[in-house]
Amino acid sequence: MTLQKQRSESLYKEALEHIVGGVNSPSRSFKAVGGGAPVFMKRGQGAYFWDEDGNRYIDYLAAYGPIILGHAHPHVTAAICRAAENGTLYGTPTELEIEFARMLKEAIPSLDKVRFVNSGTEAVMSTIRVARAYTGRNKIIKFAGCYHGHSDLVLVAAGSGPSTLGIPDSAGIPVSIAHEVITVPYNDLGALDEALARWGSDVAAVMVEPVVGNFGMVMPKPGFLEGLCAVARRNGSLVIYDEVITAFRFHYGTVQNFDGLPSGTDFAAIEPDLTALGKIIGGGLPIGAYGGRKDIMAQVAPLGPAYQAGTMAGNPASISAGIACLQVLQEPGTYARLDKLGAVLEAGLADAARKHGVALTINRIRGALSTHFCDHPVTNYDEAQNTDSEQFALFFRLMLEEGICLAPSKYEAWFTTIAHTEDDIAVTVEAADRAFAAMAH
Ligand code: PMP
Repeated sequence: MTLQKQRSESLYKEALEHIVGGVNSPSRSFKAVGGGAPVFMKRGQGAYFWDEDGNRYIDYLAAYGPIILGHAHPHVTAAICRAAENGTLYGTPTELEIEFARMLKEAIPSLDKVRFVNSGTEAVMSTIRVARAYTGRNKIIKFAGCYHGHSDLVLVAAGSGPSTLGIPDSAGIPVSIAHEVITVPYNDLGALDEALARWGSDVAAVMVEPVVGNFGMVMPKPGFLEGLCAVARRNGSLVIYDEVITAFRFHYGTVQNFDGLPSGTDFAAIEPDLTALGKIIGGGLPIGAYGGRKDIMAQVAPLGPAYQAGTMAGNPASISAGIACLQVLQEPGTYARLDKLGAVLEAGLADAARKHGVALTINRIRGALSTHFCDHPVTNYDEAQNTDSEQFALFFRLMLEEGICLAPSKYEAWFTTIAHTEDDIAVTVEAADRAFAAMAH
């Protein structure tokens, strides 16, 4: 199939005139896959979306994660419509917010108290403020390659080693702020120890994606989360889990109570003090949330001195969509299905790559998987970077031509949704087979 893309191309030209870079989030551009016009979507239904030129794609982007039920799921759509009919925003508390907070607390036992915000970025930013307020310390430790949104403090790259302070990853972030962040390699407890030995008395929190979703899907090694929590606590630092991607992704809950973690995981020992949430919990509308231990959350205004607020926070449309999404996810068999689709996809991709002699490492956790063009395992950011970007870009383009939409970055995951069918997976594997054949030549 040769993709018609005239309309996407002309819309891109027009968008460039009015919207910076033509996109409202840089990851939507095709910069990492050779540039040019991104595909402009017009409509989504179930596992598919259609672009402005009328091409249909099987969607594995899932809007970078939230669309776990597929597009326009009727239960979610009805909930959004009902909410809209009653007015989308009051600026007052509503009963819906209590209902949703209860649902989250039931699924995530470490949440004593919750606060709703509007994005994952806000959720993370707020946990950091609260951790600083609670500990009276300034610095945070994060892990290389983990993404925690675009707020100043977490948009900081590693220094030259675990004992050096961070450097800004973006223009516009003062070096003084970057110096409040220490970045160490994921899955490396030695580096964490070293950083704490050097900076520990000023470390408010250790922040981590407990299962990584931002340099592919990467599992914590056995003992990593236990060790992280133990050394952080010994140091008087809080542990913050960024579960913006992972919450409700692998099962009805978070990584904190995920039975897919390495066997022998001591769940009591890996409980975080604070958790940041987003994506799936909004059912496709903007949302974020954070919460944790009661005494720590008591820092937040109006109870405590750490100020955090939001005009749109807890709006009835987002909360209704979130409740509806979690209701569907609670149905028996949902996660088994996501897992099965993921397993079939993984097996098909691996077979096809092997057949054509394409070196491919696949990291899969239930319905989320990542494809790394390399012949080594990917367990940290260095290993994820050390993969063939050009091969990924070519694969991405070939798959797009076949009507299969992946995220335009080698670091992003593929997500199965409950709307994908076995046929969709088979079509995808056949497309990948042709793509790998083309790449091998
Ligand atoms: N944390 C993680 C782990 C994320 O993956 C993301 C977004 N990809 C964020 C935070 C930021 O969320 P948002 O884009 O909703 O601000």
